[in-house]
Amino acid sequence: MEALTRNFFLYLSKSKMLNHIAQNRGGSFATGKIIGGIDFKCSIPVIRDLNNKGLAVTVDHLGEFVDSADVARERAAECVETIKTISRERLDSQVSVKMTSLGLDIDHELVYQNMTSILETAEHNKILVTIDMEDFPRCQATLDLFKQFKVKYEYVSTVVQAYLYRTEQDVLDLNKFNPALRIVKGAYKESADVAFPDKKDVDNNFINIVKMHLLNGNYTAVATHDDAMINFTKEFVKEQQIPTSQFEFQMLYGMRSQTQLDLAKEGYKMRVYLPYGKDWYGYCMRRLAERPANIAFVFKGMVKS
Ligand SMILES: Cc1cc2nc3c(=O)[nH]c(=O)nc-3n(C[C@H](O)[C@H](O)[C@H](O)COP(=O)(O)OP(=O)(O)OC[C@H]3O[C@@H](n4cnc5c(N)ncnc54)[C@H](O)[C@@H]3O)c2cc1C
Repeated sequence: MEALTRNFFLYLSKSKMLNHIAQNRGGSFATGKIIGGIDFKCSIPVIRDLNNKGLAVTVDHLGEFVDSADVARERAAECVETIKTISRERLDSQVSVKMTSLGLDIDHELVYQNMTSILETAEHNKILVTIDMEDFPRCQATLDLFKQFKVKYEYVSTVVQAYLYRTEQDVLDLNKFNPALRIVKGAYKESADVAFPDKKDVDNNFINIVKMHLLNGNYTAVATHDDAMINFTKEFVKEQQIPTSQFEFQMLYGMRSQTQLDLAKEGYKMRVYLPYGKDWYGYCMRRLAERPANIAFVFKGMVKS
């Protein structure tokens, strides 16, 4: 039953028609609950509030699978402005970006140029940009882009997904770049040809990858809401005497907010992933697929508004 629900919401997450309807519906009911607002400006008070509570942030302009070059260029320009604003406003925030929002599905040169303008600005302002990992068909292209950029820029990072069979080898290959990596379980619907179907195997691989990356001396963002993964990391870093400066925890905005505060109070670096923008639909559907209870409260708000 759980798998059916998950597949259903992941299927809905790809619907362009529903996305269009959702864009017109606006995101006010989700604002301040699971997204920062419909634009970056609206999200600034949310970031400040999180920073004041001891939480670092990474912002993500929602919108993926862009199929127009003009829209992809607009996305890049917006991201450049966001980085400048973060710096000017002295916000404790990084930026996350999806390659399909910058034109990955359109043209390699387009996404390369767009990302170059973002990373030039990021380098100048010393603000890390993390390339989110999308679905399996885009994984190789995303890693190839990351490797191209990593030899030129310091302030770039990416994500690896524990549900993919290939990830252990990817982490070994990436080690020569000494990259900062965000480690996640993986949010898309993937076939058993490429991804572990069994949650237990995904969890074991998550732990395996966190261990490998930490022991290789690389910066590790442990991005999960799962106590088992969090407690494992806490024990492992203690046992291996890995300094708190070499890793951080990351969680999504609005999920386990008290745990986020508790981790920060315990002295761990805790970063909140804060999405904003009008394209909230696909993001909401993936969160529903993971755990409907996670965002049921958002939909209660929708009915009321
Ligand atoms: C900061 C961040 C960035 C991400 N970036 C990407 C990305 O680039 N690409 C990608 O594919 N995916 C990304 N993800 C999503 C990720 O892949 C998972 O789909 C998502 O985090 C769910 O997995 P989980 O590890 O949190 O726990 P799950 O496996 O979903 O849950 C495990 C257990 O954790 C507990 N739990 C989970 N949520 C809650 C809750 N709200 N309250 C109480 N207990 C809870 C429950 O006990 C649950 O059984 C990101 C996630 C985070 C946190």
